[in-house]
Amino acid sequence: MMRYWSKILLAWVVAGGSLTASPLIKVMLLTGVSDERYHSWEMTSAVVKRHLDDAGIFQTELVICPADVEGKRAFSPDWLAYDVIVMVYNDGNWAKDPTEQSEWSYATKQGFKSYVREGGGLVIQHSTNNGFPDWLPFLEMSGVGGWGGRSSDEGRMVVWRDGAPVHLDHESRPRHPPRGDFWVTVRDRRHPITRGLPETWLQPNDEIYTSMRGPAKNLQILATAYSDPSQPRGSAEHEPMLMVIRYGKGRVFHTTLGHCSPGDEEPVASLETAGFKAMMQYGTEWAATGDVTLPPIARR
Ligand SMILES: [Zn+2]
Repeated sequence: MMRYWSKILLAWVVAGGSLTASPLIKVMLLTGVSDERYHSWEMTSAVVKRHLDDAGIFQTELVICPADVEGKRAFSPDWLAYDVIVMVYNDGNWAKDPTEQSEWSYATKQGFKSYVREGGGLVIQHSTNNGFPDWLPFLEMSGVGGWGGRSSDEGRMVVWRDGAPVHLDHESRPRHPPRGDFWVTVRDRRHPITRGLPETWLQPNDEIYTSMRGPAKNLQILATAYSDPSQPRGSAEHEPMLMVIRYGKGRVFHTTLGHCSPGDEEPVASLETAGFKAMMQYGTEWAATGDVTLPPIARR
């Protein structure tokens, strides 16, 4: 009898079992600041939190940075208390007054940079990549981004051609075709974030960020969408929609998907697709731990 139970225990240990349930992954969902005309941080962060809560492996705390200048300057979160920072946070490109732009304190910026560089996880969602256009560490973490006066001085564009990423240097301002329906196509199914996703899925009423630019270092494209040239501002390129970036020891998952306007009625279709929900869950787990243990979308 003892030998039987010893074998069971041994098999369980070999399989990676544990005497206690795995601790929940601590997530800071950082929000509260956006261009109020184009994006709703309130609705977007509420849906993202619901998606993360549904996964059952995260303990997600909504951290709201005050939007006024004094509030931003006093903002001083304990970055190290979290396994991953998920940003629904667009700071800087929209303020007419330069003194209102990107005004985290030096200490807060340094703390954030060190947190990611030393191995912290980071998730960048949609218009978050518009923010901090003059802060090089954030440009490097996001890889590429849009607006905020970005030009060829801020780096290269990255698109997908013939099965591989291609860097482009010509002048082209970040833009997007009108909001609409489009297919997202996974380009690398070996990555933990994408191996559980469908090969393609339809994103309804969303934006294809086009001609994004940035340092584009240590960046891997996981999924793309075609920016249709028959549409205004289309580029005729397969633009990156899901990316991962290595920043020091840190892991960054960057998705350009999930537009939500302040006037949108709930449910917001672009935030509610199975693909969007799953990739936010997978991307957050991967950024925090380097792997994905959540089941593939088809088996749910
Ligand atoms: Zn948008």
